Amino acid sequence: MNGLLITLTALALVVAPLLLTGCGGNGKDGTDGKDNSGSGNGKPDIACTTTMIADLAHQIGGEHINVHGIMKPGQDPHVYKVLPADGNLIAEADLVLMNGLHLEATLGNVIKNNAKGKVARLAKSDKIKTLGSADYEGAPDPHCWFNVSYFKVYAEGARDALIAIDPDHAEDYKKNADAYMTKLDALHTWVTEQIASIPKAQRVMITSHDAFQYYGDAYDIEVHGVIGISTEQQPRPGDLQKLETQIKERNVKALFIETSVSDALNELVRKAATNTGAKVGGTLFSDSLGDKDSAGATYEEMIRHNTKTIVEALK
Ligand SMILES: [Zn+2]
Repeated sequence: MNGLLITLTALALVVAPLLLTGCGGNGKDGTDGKDNSGSGNGKPDIACTTTMIADLAHQIGGEHINVHGIMKPGQDPHVYKVLPADGNLIAEADLVLMNGLHLEATLGNVIKNNAKGKVARLAKSDKIKTLGSADYEGAPDPHCWFNVSYFKVYAEGARDALIAIDPDHAEDYKKNADAYMTKLDALHTWVTEQIASIPKAQRVMITSHDAFQYYGDAYDIEVHGVIGISTEQQPRPGDLQKLETQIKERNVKALFIETSVSDALNELVRKAATNTGAKVGGTLFSDSLGDKDSAGATYEEMIRHNTKTIVEALK
């Protein structure tokens, strides 16, 4: 844990001067009345860290806000490299919506140091019972969005933050949040039924990194990652062998690769599948949505795609 914090602090020190250069620069900002930051149309600027959170902001803020997504589809939040433009965006935003619980790593430090508006950490709530990590003692697992009922807590947090910065549109934010949360209720029920259709003994899923603990907890499926809750880690010697033993002992039918992790990590999953005779059951969206034309363009689509892929491979 200490090692991780030291790494993060060191990274923040490297990033800070970059941001200053980014801000100082050409003095063009806002002077032409139609700047590129998205502001200028009178609507509040909302900076969102992950693609899931940007989708949530669209769902609840609708036409009343400018949504600025920092991470792009497929980018891994654990190792996201902060750009100077991100620092400007964060400094100028009326509201930053982020996950929290260390998911954003370096970007989280940049937000802490640069945000002038409101910052809402959507996974930090009394209503979310965080799970721990076997690798980082005391560090909460940040992947709470994989319990759909917890994503409702994110929705409440985003709604309240939007109302706080833009009370004039409070009624619309409430209405949009209510409609979206009704959809999430239906989604939660659907996932529960889908996973329950897999025979109990076959309900074991293995993924590249340990992003699915909340999913496993909510929908009664055992989950294991090749590595722990952050993709910053490297597999330790013996990890893969331990996993392969588990796969054979439990007769695991399929392993899953993820869209937002490194090729090297996904390669380990393929290797474990080859070594054990299990199959690669497909690709899951874990820490990022896919692009507009993908099967995981929104949070709802991501959850539906993942669930269908898991059920097809394990049933
Ligand atoms: Zn992750």
